[in-house]
Amino acid sequence: MSIDVDYHLLVPTYGNNFNTCFYCGCIASSHDHAPPLQYLPFYLATKEASEFLKIPCCNECAEHLKACKTGTLEERRQFAKNKLAKKYDKALTIYEMWTEDELSALDFSLRHSIEAGLKLGAETTERINFPGFTYEAAGMQQNVSYTTPEYFNVFGEQFSTFRAALDFASKAYRISKNTLKEYFADNDNNFESAINAIHKEMADKELKQQMKKRCGDFAKQHKQSIIFVHKQVDRYLSENEDITINDALEKLYQERVKPALAR
Ligand SMILES: [Zn+2]
Repeated sequence: MSIDVDYHLLVPTYGNNFNTCFYCGCIASSHDHAPPLQYLPFYLATKEASEFLKIPCCNECAEHLKACKTGTLEERRQFAKNKLAKKYDKALTIYEMWTEDELSALDFSLRHSIEAGLKLGAETTERINFPGFTYEAAGMQQNVSYTTPEYFNVFGEQFSTFRAALDFASKAYRISKNTLKEYFADNDNNFESAINAIHKEMADKELKQQMKKRCGDFAKQHKQSIIFVHKQVDRYLSENEDITINDALEKLYQERVKPALAR
């Protein structure tokens, strides 16, 4: 699919910010996109908030932001900062708890590791507090060709905006808007595929819980190892799609447990 969108390169207004990561102030060697390139079709179809910016950033922030689906600069900035705080959590704690002059009282190896933590903690604090910089985004007027469909379809119901469709689907299928939006973007911008995927995931989870409980009960009742019971039931179920967990347990009892008791 060819996509006709100009991302505006975010250009620092002042020279001293050139080649600087907008999110953390390190040297920029990569670019982040708001919205992310792989979710561009979603943003074009839904007109969800986004600035269509190409943002200079460091490799580490770019790596962290791979997991971020949001479309605005501010949301992405928050995401990048949270990731940094989480990754360097230990060093940040040391930085908060210790001061340089407490180090002399420590033995060598502890002093060494606290010193390293202090240094990393100070760097990370600076990166988290980096305020960004004044910038210009070339052209200023957006050149975005939205590809919004005529209507959004939710199992036969039609809506003229994504928001209205999301609101309806969320209430009708009792799925949170955020979850539904993510699945929508990950399932070809299609509500039906998204809802089906969510239901399938829920059913799989339910089945797993049932398996765990039934196999656990069976193992206890017949003094078998849980792993053995689980493995056998898994095998029976994969060999025959039409049988239930109960059928599989009954088969296990007849074929393996009962013969062993008779011996
Ligand atoms: Zn960065």
